[in-house]
Amino acid sequence: MPGHVFGRTTKGVLPVAARGEGCYIIDSSGKRYLDGSGGAAVSCLGHSDAGLRAALHAQLDALAFAHTGFFTSEPAESLADALAAHAPEGIERVYLVSGGSEAVEAAIKLARQYFLEIGQPQRHRVIARRQSYHGNTLGALAAGGNAWRRAQFAPLLVETSHIAPCYEYRDRQEDETQEAYGQRAADELEAEIRRLGPETVMAFIAEPVVGATAGAVPAVPGYLKRIRQICDRHGVLLILDEVMCGMGRTGHLFACEEDGVAPDMITIAKGLGAGYQPVGALLASGRIYGAIAAGSGFFQHGHTYMGHAMAAAAAGAVLDAILGRGLLARVREQGAKLDAALRAEFGQHPHVGDIRGRGLFRGIELVEDRAGKTPFDPARKLHAQIKKLAFEAGLICYPMGGTIDGQRGDHILLAPPFIIEDAQIDELVGKLSGAIRGALAA
Ligand code: PLP
Repeated sequence: MPGHVFGRTTKGVLPVAARGEGCYIIDSSGKRYLDGSGGAAVSCLGHSDAGLRAALHAQLDALAFAHTGFFTSEPAESLADALAAHAPEGIERVYLVSGGSEAVEAAIKLARQYFLEIGQPQRHRVIARRQSYHGNTLGALAAGGNAWRRAQFAPLLVETSHIAPCYEYRDRQEDETQEAYGQRAADELEAEIRRLGPETVMAFIAEPVVGATAGAVPAVPGYLKRIRQICDRHGVLLILDEVMCGMGRTGHLFACEEDGVAPDMITIAKGLGAGYQPVGALLASGRIYGAIAAGSGFFQHGHTYMGHAMAAAAAGAVLDAILGRGLLARVREQGAKLDAALRAEFGQHPHVGDIRGRGLFRGIELVEDRAGKTPFDPARKLHAQIKKLAFEAGLICYPMGGTIDGQRGDHILLAPPFIIEDAQIDELVGKLSGAIRGALAA
């Protein structure tokens, strides 16, 4: 269907997505695609959720939009209350936006304004990790470490420090315990804060489970706790970016619950609207909100569509579904089955170096040789081949090439809907295996 849409790529013609049915998207020719990655970790409730449809119809009948410069709305208020009630300790306020990049932009600007309000105007620096993606708008892109996405826009990006990620598969030494490795990796933050001058650093931002740049890489136990201590020691705000890994994806409403850490801010999106509406949120601590309230009383930010009533209604219904239908337990259960199926299929595979993740957020990393963990030649674009063959076979997955210092292998991210059935897990792993076999043989 050639037309006037300015899509992501000018190459090729995409199928037209026509209908959704549970974990499947059906195109206009009737072909069915199992959504093994929820698009990009978005569609946590599948594509035909009755509760979401009903909630959206009801909200549309009542009110679609009222500008937040004049009004609040019932769905925005009840969503914020519910999120705050289930958020980590200290998180009290919810700033509703339209997606992940907007949530990260708001977090960075709120961090800056917080320090102005409390009389520390010299704090303006952000530290992040090399293996990270925080969004595509200029502020969020500057924070992220994804070299491929940043390259063309480098002159437009504010300077950000990037430290090493916590990436056990490649960076833990053989004679090192997990705990020692986690501390060593976290201590890079302290060294960087000292190098920059602690009085100039405003925030550290990280994904608790790294998504798009690495394929579901969780930190080792203890790492984030140490990061929290270091931030506290130097008065630096901790922002956890849970745009991909939050909202139940790991089997906990917030991924950082499993790490036992409460940040100063959390960003969420993707699964928050589950694809039924574009929505994201910045969750902030009472301390940060209180500083604004006691100071200027005005956060110098805002978007026309922030706090949109339809988006808030969708997110409220998603949260109700996750909590009311016992989906967190289901994510843990089906996640363990997906992990087991991946290990059964690829555990001895000569070109699968690592299988990792939490809940229904899983990744595998492909390597030329397992012993040396040598990545495939990036020019081969193995990940793109796998994506193409899987799609032809009717499977949506999220493969990416190695991006960090040219040392990471191609990886495949899996993030299926929380409603995935056992037979669909088998279908997913079977089709993925066929695609990998085909791509390796090519
Ligand atoms: N943060 C993380 C961790 C992400 O994975 C993404 C998107 O993949 C973003 C931010 C940006 O979100 P969005 O694409 O909704 O702007």
